[in-house]
Amino acid sequence: MSRDPRYDILFEPVRIGPVTAKNRFFQVPHCNGMGITYPSSMIGMRGMKAEGGWAVVCTEETDIHPSGDLSPLAEGRLWDDLDIPVFARMNEAIHKHGALAGVELAHTANRDACLFSREVPVNVSHAPAGEGYYPAQARRMDRADIRNYRRWHREAALRAERAGFDIIYVYVRAYTSINGNFLSRTLNDRTDEYGGSLENRLRLTREVTEDMVEAVGGRCAVAIRWTVDDPMKPDGQPDLAEGREVIEMLAELPDLWDVNLREWVRDSMPSRFGPEGSQEEFIRFVKTVTTKPVVGVGRFTSPDTMVSQVRRGLLDFIGAARPSIADPFLPKKIEEGRIDDIRECIGCNMCVSSDFTMVPMRCTQNPTAGEEWRKGWHPEKIAAKKSDDNVLIVGAGPAGLEAARALGQRGYEVTLAEARQEVGGRVALESRLPGLATWGRVRDYRLQQIRRMPNLQLYLDSRLSAEDIRGYGFAKVVIATGGHWRRDGIARWRSTPIPGLDLAHVLTPDDIFAGKAVTGPVVVYDDDHYYMGGVLAEKLRLEGHEVTLVTPASDISTWTKFTLEQPMIEQRLHEIGVSVLEKHLVASAKEGEIELEHSHNGARRRMACGTLLLVTMRLPNDGIYLELSESAEALEAAGITSLARIGDCHAPSTIAAAVYAGHRYAREMDEPEAEIAFRRELIALAPS
Ligand code: ADP
Ligand code: SF4
Repeated sequence: MSRDPRYDILFEPVRIGPVTAKNRFFQVPHCNGMGITYPSSMIGMRGMKAEGGWAVVCTEETDIHPSGDLSPLAEGRLWDDLDIPVFARMNEAIHKHGALAGVELAHTANRDACLFSREVPVNVSHAPAGEGYYPAQARRMDRADIRNYRRWHREAALRAERAGFDIIYVYVRAYTSINGNFLSRTLNDRTDEYGGSLENRLRLTREVTEDMVEAVGGRCAVAIRWTVDDPMKPDGQPDLAEGREVIEMLAELPDLWDVNLREWVRDSMPSRFGPEGSQEEFIRFVKTVTTKPVVGVGRFTSPDTMVSQVRRGLLDFIGAARPSIADPFLPKKIEEGRIDDIRECIGCNMCVSSDFTMVPMRCTQNPTAGEEWRKGWHPEKIAAKKSDDNVLIVGAGPAGLEAARALGQRGYEVTLAEARQEVGGRVALESRLPGLATWGRVRDYRLQQIRRMPNLQLYLDSRLSAEDIRGYGFAKVVIATGGHWRRDGIARWRSTPIPGLDLAHVLTPDDIFAGKAVTGPVVVYDDDHYYMGGVLAEKLRLEGHEVTLVTPASDISTWTKFTLEQPMIEQRLHEIGVSVLEKHLVASAKEGEIELEHSHNGARRRMACGTLLLVTMRLPNDGIYLELSESAEALEAAGITSLARIGDCHAPSTIAAAVYAGHRYAREMDEPEAEIAFRRELIALAPS
């Protein structure tokens, strides 16, 4: 297939100062939980994007000095020459495919407390330092510090050039960088030539950019990454008051403008709260005030939207972090006219969580993300089948669908049996909840792929029993029958059932999906702490019920902090009138009433409750697996040489974990355990 001429414009080369990008696909800087902590994994991931056709591939935030130490986060680092080889190797992997390599040089001011280096953090003003209320402060920079900072930036740029980078960033984001904090109206309280007027506050960014141009200009491109809104307005909306002026004042100084919004959640807007292209209204002015190329992001996965961004003069480059994670081969697929093969990002921000948890990035849509080097997984290529064994997969949720897709790609004869009349399992059900429609892409991508595979048979409305399975004569059987929600209250905070549940009207999320009647007032009890409690509270409230969301944690949907969604969930529930009660667990229940207990001080109170919706934990639907595995002889007699359980049927977890489990099964089904790769690297010991 060849490219649709409508998309030709996306493949035009674009000059960025002294370098030229081969097309308009630009992987903007993004964290990945690997950085210099897991360097070869990070290199494998970046190189894969270059192979997939991105014209520019950038690093994550890369520290320039120990006084801006991002530890323990797994980011980049260019403190001295010791840090060059990691990036030299990364750049080689990027250049091999004709892409340009960019580095986001960063000094994060007081955002981090320099926990590794134990330096005293420096900042525009005296201010608390560190995340998570770490009890430390940063000190206000004096003139000597400013001179030093400029020197560190310059030296880091020269190191970056030696490492082979083509594009060097000046990072300007309030709350996250020295440049941004100096520029900020609210963070900068200085009275010297770096404080007060916009011109003064912008002075440092101007100086640093000029330093960059002088140090590496003409050989490397110099980019400014500027968050156009600062500070936030009281209503939480971006304030663009100075955004335009800043770009006007520095318009032609850098070779490239990379623009986005200051708050990470607005930059990486979860699909639950914003559509593709949600930054457009805020950054559309940029190209009207500079002639330099502009890159911006918006979870772009549709080539038509991309073309429209360029044609309407909004962007020169289609910037992407998440779409490039979900599908490193997105540009190649557009180029080759394989639009249907694009694995579209679902905007769940599972990838973002890996940065906070400091582990190699995982992605719900792309199970190979972070595994390019470690397991040797390529997002598009997979080994051909090693036998003529036929495979039966029971259950077409995310685990079963991905196992079927990947085994089908390998050439195996696969039969996929699903009890319900639709595929997708929990994804099909959950994508009907408020704001979660985009999550249906997990199902859609896989269904689209397997429909085209002649070696794959899909049977709907086919609830299989162990006996059925033994009767079919498949060599390999995979049970992917998912899980179900508990209805006894046991989860993280309770290890014994809630007394009195038999007297009360108790539902679980499965009952809500099955359409069981809800009588008010409703108490949603969330001891799961991810999205389900909050989104069901939202659904029931939107249906007109009086709803209280109770959780033993200190915040509702507390784990969604890692996906950036928590504040937005809190805001949404507040707006629609869901009452919230944190730090309480359900102590007992009876008809029309529950008793609550404060999770820290034990104080008890009563609450009227017509329906108690328990969002606690799930149990595997492993009955068929257990029955089949009971008798090795019966399996042998049935011709079943291997039996496995995957996904939620093995242990309920995230959708990302189910997709990963399905993919892993397909890769490893016919591999001897000893030959399965799981590469690790240890820090080389310094000479003693
Ligand atoms: P996972 O996340 O592990 O993929 P899901 O719960 O999303 O799990 O999906 C499991 C799927 O398995 C559901 O679509 C369910 O209808 C299906 N299923 C459960 N039991 C059977 C069975 N006995 N035969 C066929 N399909 C089944
Ligand atoms: Fe997109 Fe979710 Fe993958 Fe992140 S984890 S790239 S948001 S699909």
